[in-house]
Amino acid sequence: MSKPESSKKKIQAIRGMNDLLPGQSALWQYFEGTVQALMQRYGYAEIRTPIVEQTALFARSIGEVTDIVEKEMYTFEDRNGDSLTLRPEGTASCVRAAMEHGLLHNQTQRLWYQGPMFRHERPQKGRYRQFHQVGLEAFGLDGPDIDAEVILLSARLWKELGLLDHVTLELNSLGSNEARAAYRDKLVAYFEQHRDQLDEDSLRRLSSNPLRILDSKNPDMAPMLADAPKLMDHLDAASREHFEALTALLEAAGIDYVINPRLVRGLDYYCRTVFEWTTTALGSQGTVCAGGRYDGLVEQLGGKPTPAVGFAMGIERLILLLDTLELVPQAALGELDLYVLPMDDGATAQAMLLAEQVRSELPELRLQLHCGGGSFKSRIKKADKSGARMALLLGEDELAEGRVTLKFLREERDQLSLAQDALAKTLANLASDVRA
Ligand code: ATP
Ligand code: MG
Repeated sequence: MSKPESSKKKIQAIRGMNDLLPGQSALWQYFEGTVQALMQRYGYAEIRTPIVEQTALFARSIGEVTDIVEKEMYTFEDRNGDSLTLRPEGTASCVRAAMEHGLLHNQTQRLWYQGPMFRHERPQKGRYRQFHQVGLEAFGLDGPDIDAEVILLSARLWKELGLLDHVTLELNSLGSNEARAAYRDKLVAYFEQHRDQLDEDSLRRLSSNPLRILDSKNPDMAPMLADAPKLMDHLDAASREHFEALTALLEAAGIDYVINPRLVRGLDYYCRTVFEWTTTALGSQGTVCAGGRYDGLVEQLGGKPTPAVGFAMGIERLILLLDTLELVPQAALGELDLYVLPMDDGATAQAMLLAEQVRSELPELRLQLHCGGGSFKSRIKKADKSGARMALLLGEDELAEGRVTLKFLREERDQLSLAQDALAKTLANLASDVRA
């Protein structure tokens, strides 16, 4: 007999949208904590905007003929009939909010954000439908100094995460809108001459977004693309000067880069500087951070002309990279230091008290108190399973003597009997032993 369609069928998560499980969350917190501290050290303030915006915001900023707007957005009508979209990226929302709250009037702003983004893409390793970005935007500054500084900030992040030797900075300049329009005509003429070599996607883009053809990953097109006219050779004088000043600042700061004349980025709002940090360790999802200058966007969205530069990094890809390269530090594993174990129910109250005392005096230690009773054997088993490095045992004898037994769970080492009233001090010494 076939099973009837059951109302008890388990409901699963949406394809391409991931649960972040306890085993991974400590690593995410380590990453996020490192980023947050870094943003503060560079004088960036966090901004949080809604996950949903009016669809027109993204269509007008990212561009109607980009992949994101054409086929990746989660767009729906709400109950009032308004067209809303789950944000596919952070810059548009950030600009909207900064304009709406008057943050851009005669002042500079350095803002950062993080959170989930949504794109209806084909899920694969490093590419999801809900993914997370952390990004920054600097408004009101038009010089190459701020471009260099945001790159330095990202480079410092790689250094702190141990990734600097595993990523490459790719740079290009898109020039001014006028120079790019002139270049676009030359490029289209070149592609027209080689029309027979263009794949279907590229033919479609030829009229709508020909620069994106340069970004094609199709190996059959590679030789033809290599000979295409280069944006770098068609820059306006001011953009060329800007770019040269940027590379000089990067060189002075000791930041290596490669110029990638085919780097165009998939969003329409960029001009002048564009950059990506890429890695070869993640297969084809190799871009971990991408950004550039978007001097025209604020005006395009109805504000006063405001120069701006920013970047966004994909958190999932960076977590994958840290995992793949085994660069996860001990502290990011989220392991317990101590399992506090009353050996019978009579010791519970005192064990709880000791655990609270240690937590007050040594806030950096992670302690878990055994709860739920059980036989002595099952308690010991739980201590072992907890992953803690040490267990604090408290039974009848310890209670009577005002002492506690410290057992090492992960190393061959004799257990210690410690005085309860000097417990925190002893533990502090032990912890610094381990760190040294
Ligand atoms: P890609 O070329 O990989 O599709 P993109 O040009 O669409 O990237 P951006 O819009 O610039 O990417 O987003 C910045 C960063 O966010 C990317 O470099 C990547 O690290 C991450 N990212 C973008 N889309 C996804 C996704 N679907 N899943 C996971 N991370 C993503
Ligand atoms: Mg994309």
